[in-house]
Amino acid sequence: MQNYYAVKNKIHLSSPHMSGKEQKYIEEAFLSNWIAPVGPNIDAFENEVEAYIGDGKAVAVSSGTAAIHLALLLSGVKSGDRVFCSSLTFVASANPILYLGAEPVFIDSEPETWNMSPQALEKAFQEAEKEGKLPKAVIAVHLYGQCAKLAEISQLCQHYRVPLIEDAAESLGSTYQGKASGTIGEFGIFSFNGNKIITTSSGGMLICKDPSKAEEARFLATQAKDPAMHYQHSSIGFNYRMSNILAGIGRAQISVIEERVKARRRIFRKYYQELSDQSGLTFMAELPSTRSNRWLTALTIDEWVTKVSVKYLLKYLINENIEARHVWKPLHLQPLFRGALYYSHDKANSISEQLFHSGICLPSGSNMPEEDQMRIIDCIRSILH
Ligand SMILES: *Cc1c(COP(=O)(O)O)cnc(C)c1O
Repeated sequence: MQNYYAVKNKIHLSSPHMSGKEQKYIEEAFLSNWIAPVGPNIDAFENEVEAYIGDGKAVAVSSGTAAIHLALLLSGVKSGDRVFCSSLTFVASANPILYLGAEPVFIDSEPETWNMSPQALEKAFQEAEKEGKLPKAVIAVHLYGQCAKLAEISQLCQHYRVPLIEDAAESLGSTYQGKASGTIGEFGIFSFNGNKIITTSSGGMLICKDPSKAEEARFLATQAKDPAMHYQHSSIGFNYRMSNILAGIGRAQISVIEERVKARRRIFRKYYQELSDQSGLTFMAELPSTRSNRWLTALTIDEWVTKVSVKYLLKYLINENIEARHVWKPLHLQPLFRGALYYSHDKANSISEQLFHSGICLPSGSNMPEEDQMRIIDCIRSILH
């Protein structure tokens, strides 16, 4: 029997989706008393992620943010250095630049992928070279699972001999020309935060192209302990290792990653089938020769056509207990980064700002029931009429 007075159940943007196998690994950790940030689950989880992505050396850490911090340290970023970073992203992409006292320079998106514009990146490189202030690293984000134009970006990075860090926090399971996202740059990072495609409740992974960098990362992540019988330290270290219990959750989660990607892609396809005929709506495309994990279904709304603003649509959905969201607010517009240099896609167009004003992310959890998705679709249809 339906109760029409009950508050409609909340539909989350992206909630944790357990496989049912997690408890077994946690129990094993308890039984063997491996409760520390060392233990068999950590090594196994690293090996399993390496096997899945097919290239690079993996280091399990406490968060995606920690992984970015380590990647910057291993790229030699020091106080006063410049780091180029995508502007249209979550603040965690750039916070570690500030941890190091370095200066972020923000690079706009291009319209096809919503990710770093190679054109803007080239301009930034050219001007930095003229000033004699080339960056020490470039952080390129794969937004909502969509790969950036990595061929163009890595070519530019190689030309200027600057290491590329792929912020693949949102794109585990995405591929670019057959290669896993996170394995193309010198470094890649993944996040296993609660809302990501797989989760360890909190956690992250650093992927290093050069295995010796992975060894260095392990050293830095465990308080930079020198190889001596007594406690001896010659450099600054961090407490960034993942716990053996959380790595156990990760092992269960990585075993179902392909199912999770399929589910998110199915959710995207349903939204697309049901809503793409509405004029004024444009779904984030998928770059040819790539596979997006479709972590979140994202689209833009042309207010001139729909006569409905993004703000209004979001308010309406939130009232219906549906957790939809704005696209990330570009970092060059954040008070935290006031005064930072910014390179737009071209003189007339700041693509990240356009996407911020017109973009919206829809609930996309792999555990979202189809009737919930239909409720969202019906809501959007009714408001557009
Ligand atoms: C989630 C996320 C991070 C940070 O990962 P944490 O594990 O939460 O520290 C970094 N970059 C992007 C683009 C993210 O979405």
